[in-house]
Formats: sequence, structure tokens, C-alpha cells
Amino acid sequence: MAIKFSGEKYQCPCEGDIGQPNRIHGWKCAACGEYLQIYAEDRSAKQVIERVSVSDVKKGDLLVQDGSPLLSANEVLDVRLENGAYRIALREFGVLKKVSTDKEFNRILGSW
Ligand SMILES: [Zn+2]
Repeated sequence: MAIKFSGEKYQCPCEGDIGQPNRIHGWKCAACGEYLQIYAEDRSAKQVIERVSVSDVKKGDLLVQDGSPLLSANEVLDVRLENGAYRIALREFGVLKKVSTDKEFNRILGSW
């Protein structure tokens, strides 16, 4: 699981505004299977995020660490699967080792 921010609103391109998310598994839309767009607020920061499975994390993604403010995202420099766990190198942070395969991350899409 990844942390949730207060006052989240959920949208999907296929349905527009949705109240309570209708999800299939994880944070994907039940209708189209795409990740829901989450409009999150944290203090004065407003960012659109996706809550993605670690298996969908790619080089260049901006991830918010659990417990960090919404504005302090780190860029993924490298991600690889090693011995059944993920190893993720983050700019200005260092390396997350032995990340379990069911971990989710908040990935920044942009501000709103
Ligand atoms: Zn959808």
C-alpha cells in the first residue's frame, strides 16, 4: 500500500468525475482498466497522481515517498527486479532495496 492524502478526488478519462472509485484491483478503473487519476492536496500542494504497482514503475517516473510531502518527489534513475524484490534508485535520495512486489507508489502526473 501507498499512503493516501487528505481530500483525494478520483477521475478516469473514460468516466470523468467519480465519487467513490469503482476499482478492479489496486487503483485501476473497473470500466477501462487504466490507473485512476487522483487529485490530491497536501498543505498548499495540488498534484495529480496515480497509485501504481511497483511493477509499473519506470525510469523517469516521479515518486513520492511514503511520509514525504506531496511536493518532494524523487525521479527514478533505475529500477530492476533482483531475487524476487525490486531495487529502485532515486535521484537525491539513494537506493530503495528489497522493495516487495506488492508495494504501491504515488506517481506524480502533474499539478492542478
Ligand atoms: Zn476508466
